[in-house]
Amino acid sequence: MNKQMIHDLVGIGIGPFNLGLAALAKNFPNLNTKFFDRNASFNWHPGLLMPETRLQVPFFADLVTPADPTSRFTYMNFLKTKGRFFRFGIQENNFITRFEYNEYCQWVISQLPNLHFGFTCEAIHFNSQKDCYDLYFRGADGHSYLFHGKKIVIGVGTVPSMPECVADCDHDLVFHSSNYLFKKEMLSGQKHILIVGSGQSAAEIFYDLLQHTSNSSSVIESISWFTRAEYIFPMDGSKFAFELTSPDYIDYFYNLPDTIKQKLQSAQNRLYKGVNKELIDAIYQRLYLNALHDSRLKVNIQTNTEFDQIRVENQSKINLLFYHLTKEQFCEYPADMAIFATGYKNVIPEFLNPVRALIQWKEDGNYDANKNYSVDANDSVFVQNADLQSHGFNSADLGMGPLRNAAILNTIFGNEQFTFEKNVTFQHF
Ligand SMILES: Cc1cc2nc3c(=O)[nH]c(=O)nc-3n(C[C@H](O)[C@H](O)[C@H](O)COP(=O)(O)OP(=O)(O)OC[C@H]3O[C@@H](n4cnc5c(N)ncnc54)[C@H](O)[C@@H]3O)c2cc1C
Repeated sequence: MNKQMIHDLVGIGIGPFNLGLAALAKNFPNLNTKFFDRNASFNWHPGLLMPETRLQVPFFADLVTPADPTSRFTYMNFLKTKGRFFRFGIQENNFITRFEYNEYCQWVISQLPNLHFGFTCEAIHFNSQKDCYDLYFRGADGHSYLFHGKKIVIGVGTVPSMPECVADCDHDLVFHSSNYLFKKEMLSGQKHILIVGSGQSAAEIFYDLLQHTSNSSSVIESISWFTRAEYIFPMDGSKFAFELTSPDYIDYFYNLPDTIKQKLQSAQNRLYKGVNKELIDAIYQRLYLNALHDSRLKVNIQTNTEFDQIRVENQSKINLLFYHLTKEQFCEYPADMAIFATGYKNVIPEFLNPVRALIQWKEDGNYDANKNYSVDANDSVFVQNADLQSHGFNSADLGMGPLRNAAILNTIFGNEQFTFEKNVTFQHF
């Protein structure tokens, strides 16, 4: 690696969004890019990589297709290269498993030599003499490394979010859903399992546990599933809802005043926080069959109920306190294992501290992103998946990633290398 060179673009974090950027940028040999990730290798949300879990976007919302369907990094080309194109076509399911998506991303990575794993970004400074950024990394070998970049794209993703009192709780069997598979072997011996939250991860874990209990060696006696939602609701996959996952909608949303954006967002849960309809059907079917065959498993799905407190008396006794939102009553539930599927949050990385003054901030402490996803006056620092407040609920959507990356690359090139389809929706916003 040439550390003295000033790269045109340095990406921090190699999740699907910066990976998609690296793949699109590969078409431009004159653009000198490097991407770094602190992990030793790419593995997409490994704690939830159950074999049957599926993407919530169709396969053509891969790393590149919405921006450049002619790219060699499309999911179709991956299938063809692996000799799986025909089988994929015949099985007629647009929603690929997360396992396949992970494999696809690793296939793309294997073709991009400018991606480097085992490098944690620790600080970024502006170098006024060289008119570029100095990026300090800690390598997996413990050494410090300095790289230079004219443009930076921050793609560090989100972090698991838990209620404060739980985050401080030191108990092996109280954990965030992102660790589910790492904790799964501890299931043996646990009789009463409790899940908090009702998004896709909670539903996947609930379903996986239901399947686990059909195994004769399972000792699980009860599974409780608590949510403050009124019911376990599906993600809206209807046609006119999908139209909101479009550049047209992002254009409309971006130009609204912040107060209106906040109001809209709080009413949009069903567009991106619900559960796949197919998974809801599978869960219901499993519950129906369990009831029919008089399974000894006790299932308690409790809605309208908000988590309040946790009491850990010793390593084998957990009590959870909930508040029923309509009955206005507190209720306490004991459990052996409590899984918090309580989502993810954006955190502003500390490595930005030395350049904070160059970044645009909103009053609430979030980035104040420009339309092209830069967050400074000179279009030199860009953010991925941190534009919820400015660009709307599509921020974390995998299908919108390639379009965001196309906008970033167009800005860097100063011209339309990528074109955007306009007026794609039948609805007007
Ligand atoms: C289980 C799960 C399933 C999902 N499924 C879907 C789906 O089906 N459809 C959809 O549209 N969205 C889905 N999402 C939402 C979203 O698209 C994903 O979370 C996606 O991984 C976000 O990509 P990212 O590139 O922003 O971040 P991440 O995938 O989180 O990657 C960020 C990377 O940055 C690295 N990093 C962090 N800090 C540093 C640092 N200081 N230095 C170097 N590297 C650093 C991390 O190691 C990490 O590898 C899902 C989310 C989850 C949790």
